[in-house]
Amino acid sequence: MKHGREESDVVSLVDDVLADAIRCRASDIHFEPTGSRLIIKYRLDGVLSVVEELPKIVSENVVARLKVLGGLLTYRNDIPQEGRISGHETPDQAGRVADKRLAIFPTIHGQRAVVRIFYETAAFTELSQLGFSDYICSSLRSIAGQNQGVLLLTGPAGSGKSTTLAALLRHILRTYPGKSVVSLEDPVERNIEGVTQVQIPPSGDMTFPVALRSLLRQDPEVLMIGEVRDAETARIGIQAGLTGHLLMSTMHSGSPAGAFLRLLEMGIEPYQVTSSVIAVLNQRLVRRLCETCKARDAQTEAYAAVGCAACMNTGFRGRVLIAEMVQLDGRLRKAVLARADLDEMESILKERGHMTMAQDGLRLVGAGLTTKDEVDKACGTA
Ligand SMILES: [Zn+2]
Repeated sequence: MKHGREESDVVSLVDDVLADAIRCRASDIHFEPTGSRLIIKYRLDGVLSVVEELPKIVSENVVARLKVLGGLLTYRNDIPQEGRISGHETPDQAGRVADKRLAIFPTIHGQRAVVRIFYETAAFTELSQLGFSDYICSSLRSIAGQNQGVLLLTGPAGSGKSTTLAALLRHILRTYPGKSVVSLEDPVERNIEGVTQVQIPPSGDMTFPVALRSLLRQDPEVLMIGEVRDAETARIGIQAGLTGHLLMSTMHSGSPAGAFLRLLEMGIEPYQVTSSVIAVLNQRLVRRLCETCKARDAQTEAYAAVGCAACMNTGFRGRVLIAEMVQLDGRLRKAVLARADLDEMESILKERGHMTMAQDGLRLVGAGLTTKDEVDKACGTA
């Protein structure tokens, strides 16, 4: 990228940044104004790094250009705004990008902008391609075949939960053709052929509970809800899972046991939790070692990150999934019914030899796909 541009170059500067970020497969571009500069960062495989620093003078023009591309109000600099940027891929990038979302936020140093880029991920459409262990993969297939119950996915934002849900829905459509499959999402992230997808707007009367309640009268067999955020959605969702629907959704929780407790905190009765929830799947994405430069340590025999041109000197390229799954058995069910605390549930899991996410990560470390450090960071044990 060229430095020292004139203001009139802002249009091509923004074009170049967008094209370059897509070339690197960055998931986000941050345009961050400081007291003296405009800092541009890319998020590559989950990690943010500075790629360019521009003089402060271009800052507002760059953001103004982004706002034009995103169809936002250019004359409002004092409110957060969100939009979509369409097109703008170079010819060789055509078809690689599914969507680009723009979010503008006013700060004391001027407006900050983030462009989130969603790629067409043809490689990750099937359950078997996601990288789950054989045990988790076959458990998910068997859950997908059930006629009722609830499957919850947990993990922070950006841990690949919606990719897993989309793969599950595709698996259901292919294995059980004719099933009525409906999804409620905010927003719809990818189109899935054969699924009736409903987008829930961030504000307005069409909320998750309202949509979910009336959707149940549309006789769906499989329901996917983007996220269980409130007690009302949880209550209707659990009820649906008890009455002849297979419901899949995501939930904010650090661990599978935490998800059971979260449902109880939301006012769901313990017996409803134990009779509806089939399993909780907890997942994270860890960075995948760059195949071009990774090096084996002679002593530990583990592979380490090195860095080369192919991976922009990060030592990593792409990401891999680590996961753990908890299905309710007798003791755990009793613990939920007795409203046991997190420690108690965790110790029951430990005693029954539950394979944790960190242990699942070691499988990938052993295969030379990632490092122990990456796994520890993802599991919060670093
Ligand atoms: Zn490399």
